[in-house]
This record gives sequence, structure tokens and C-alpha cells, in this order.
Amino acid sequence: MTVNLLDLDAAGLTAFFAGHGEKPFRAKQVLRWLHRFGQTDFGAMTDIAKGLREKLQSMAVVLPPKLIGDSVSDDGTRKFLFDVGGGNAVESVFIPEAGRGTLCISTQAGCALDCSFCSTGKQGFNRNLTVGEIVGQLWQARHALGARHASGDDERLISNVVLMGMGEPLANFERTVTALRLMLDDNAYGLSRRRVTVSTAGLVPAIDRLRDECPVALAVSLHAPNDRLRDELVPLNRKYPLHELMPACLRYLERAPRDFVTFEYVMLDGVNDADAQACELLDLTRDVPCKFNLIPFNPFPGSPYRRSPSPRIRRFAEILIDAGVVTTTRKTRGDDIDAACGQLAGQVLDRTRRTAPRGFLLRFDQQQVSR
Ligand code: SAH
Repeated sequence: MTVNLLDLDAAGLTAFFAGHGEKPFRAKQVLRWLHRFGQTDFGAMTDIAKGLREKLQSMAVVLPPKLIGDSVSDDGTRKFLFDVGGGNAVESVFIPEAGRGTLCISTQAGCALDCSFCSTGKQGFNRNLTVGEIVGQLWQARHALGARHASGDDERLISNVVLMGMGEPLANFERTVTALRLMLDDNAYGLSRRRVTVSTAGLVPAIDRLRDECPVALAVSLHAPNDRLRDELVPLNRKYPLHELMPACLRYLERAPRDFVTFEYVMLDGVNDADAQACELLDLTRDVPCKFNLIPFNPFPGSPYRRSPSPRIRRFAEILIDAGVVTTTRKTRGDDIDAACGQLAGQVLDRTRRTAPRGFLLRFDQQQVSR
């Protein structure tokens, strides 16, 4: 069977080489070629014995997801669309800022959680992405952005990675963690744990597992200050309510590379943005060292909500800040190319039958046509 080497982290590659009677250090060499230098051609891996290169050619491939769309927003945000086979496509977004560049990547084709304000969720769920498809988005984005792989240059365009694209990363746990290990590996991307963020809607048992197996920065999509409202916005809350989620955040902090959890909070006009709800939020999170990131709601076709007006968002933030909680409001970027939070749609052939079949026309293509 042919192995896609992008599916394997250091441990996986070591086992792969051991299985073929090769020395463990081959794993390190190959990791560097694949990820640091972006090399896909075994023939060009010059420090690997010729015999082994030939062997690799016959039993392995290097297969990143196919890049089929690349659009740039007026503000420099760049959206990549990847074909992941079977009629599905997923998206990544690169967000350049002064002094850093963040790549937002997807972990599933679609999402099964069905949060009421999220475009990905509304499309239903098809399948988990493979490790090669998750880390392959980083591989491809670096390539497209022209990072200087070969020189080993430290001036990296992508300094941060956030798992905030399509899907729930912790619902695709094993593959996500293997992909995280590659992001952290000095022979691959060498990102620090603080610069890699997993965002979750609150899968409590998986938050504990992540803490034990691969603690990176954690963001939790809170969106509501009480169970009544959160049950409605984030249906997963019915399974893991706030009295379980908050202690899980505290437990995570025992091992987290940062000493706070980021709570994301989408600002929905007249739904979760009242002064009283800000106060309730302060009560709820009193014992958890945290920061708030307010996300102005990004509409999508058919969405039932409106974005809170800016003065309302400012007032909401002020209440949190006055209580001593660091609060930022996410800049809405890339919305002209549908690359803002919650707008990533890609193309998902729903297997949960949640949505009516929508044919094969990509929203991405519709955008291109309508502009
Ligand atoms: N499943 C993960 C990660 C994907 S979503 C999670 O729930 O955290 C990344 C962030 O975008 C989440 O905080 C999500 O709630 C938010 N989001 C989803 N739809 C949005 C929308 N339409 N407008 C603004 N933010 C949205």
C-alpha cells in the first residue's frame, strides 16, 4: 500500500522506516525535506542514499491537498480553496498583520455541530480531514506565499496557526494532534506551542486529552453566558453544559503554554449582546484566567442573525474591560471574499442529510461570477 508521507509525524515516520529496516534518523531527514524545504521529489533528497530514494519512490507519495482556488481580499487577507476529493473542498485563510502572519486552517469537511450562526455548520458534515490534508494546508500556503523554504530562512511569513477554519478540531482528535505535532516539530515547522491555537466549541473530554497529549494555546467558543442561550446557539452545550466546560478550562490551564484561555464570543444583535449578559459572563468566568475575543457576526446567505452595531460591541467590551478582563474585538477581515470567521463554506457534500442537496456549484465560483 502506498503511504502519503504527509500523514506521518516524527514517530510515525520513524516506525515507517523501522518497518523497512531503515535507521531512525531517516525520519528526521525526510521530515526536513518534506516540510522545511517543501520537497516532494524523492530524487532531489540528496542526503538520502540512492537505494532508499528508489525504495521510497515505489512505496510512498507526498500528496498535499490540491489547491484549486486562491483569492486575495482588499485588506490583504488571502483565501485558499483545496480539493479534498469526493466532491468536497475546504478552505484556509492567511491573515497578514504587522509583525505576524496567521494561517487559519480547517480540520473537517463540514462540521457536525450545527451552531446556529455558522455557515460551515449549516452545510452539514462529510468527513474528517486526514493529517496530510490538515498539515498540507500549511504546506501549500507556505508554498503559495513564497516562503523561503530552501534557505531555512527564519523570516517566516506564517508565524501563527489557528485551527479555526471549517470543522471542530477536537472531534477529529487523533489526526489533529498528529498535525499539531508536525507544526511544533523543529524538523518540520518549528512553531512554538504559544503560536498554535486550537479553537473548540467545548468538547470537554477532548479538552482534557489535548492537555495531556499536546497542550497548545486554547480558544473556546463561548458565545453565551448561560446554558439556556448556549443550548440554542451551540447545541453541543446540551451534552457538555457550562458547569462542565468551565472546570475543563481550568484543568487545561494546568498544562497550557499560555496562562489564559481565550473565550470567543460572536456578537449577535439583540441575542447575546446586552449589558446584563456581559455582567452574567463576568460571573460565569470569574474563576477562569481568560481573555475575551469579541467577533462581530459575519452574515452569510440565509443566516437568521444580524451583527451587533459597533457602539453596542464597544459598550459590551467596556463592561468586560472595566472588570479587568482583557478584551479585544476581532477585526472583520476578508469579508469581501467570504473569508471572515464563520463564512468558510468550501464545498461539502452533506452525509448527515441536514441540508437539501445543493449540486456541485461552489459558492466560491458563484462569488467569482458575481463580481
Ligand atoms: N469548531 C471550532 C472552530 C471553528 S469556528 C469552534 O467552534 O471554535 C471558529 C470561530 O468562528 C468560532 O468561535 C466560531 O464560533 C466563530 N464563528 C462561526 N460562525 C461565525 C459567524 N458567522 N460570524 C462570526 N464568527 C463565527
